[in-house]
Amino acid sequence: MIIAVDFDGTIVEHEYPKIGKPIAFAIETLLQLQKDGHTLLMWSVREGKMLQEAVDYCESKGLKFFAANKNYPEEDPATASRKLNADLFIDDRNLGGLPDWGVIYHAIKALERGETSFENIMMASGENQRIRRRKKNFFIRLGEMFENNKY
Ligand SMILES: [Mg+2]
Repeated sequence: MIIAVDFDGTIVEHEYPKIGKPIAFAIETLLQLQKDGHTLLMWSVREGKMLQEAVDYCESKGLKFFAANKNYPEEDPATASRKLNADLFIDDRNLGGLPDWGVIYHAIKALERGETSFENIMMASGENQRIRRRKKNFFIRLGEMFENNKY
């Protein structure tokens, strides 16, 4: 899959324009996703020097994105569509916020297996029993509501 990944609030804590503290397992998970054959694009509101700082930060941790704010390195921003051609976006502004990176990894694996149920994807992590025991959060309840057609 082509996976677009936000930077601030997703890979590091949100301290834009500074680079925040690392978010646990973000880099490790993204490196594993690359090993699994996925193409990673950085997709950030950062531009120019700020964008380069984010790219350099990731490269200093051994993570090299295929392209940043582009579909491929040679794409010309002047003529390209503004729409990024990604299969999946990982962004802290998603509905429900940013799950733990372990959950993100297992959710992507579930998608690859052809899983389509919202709850099964979100509960694919080995943590699911711990999550189930906890009071169900808004995100999970919302998914169940859609699956049960109770909206
Ligand atoms: Mg963000």
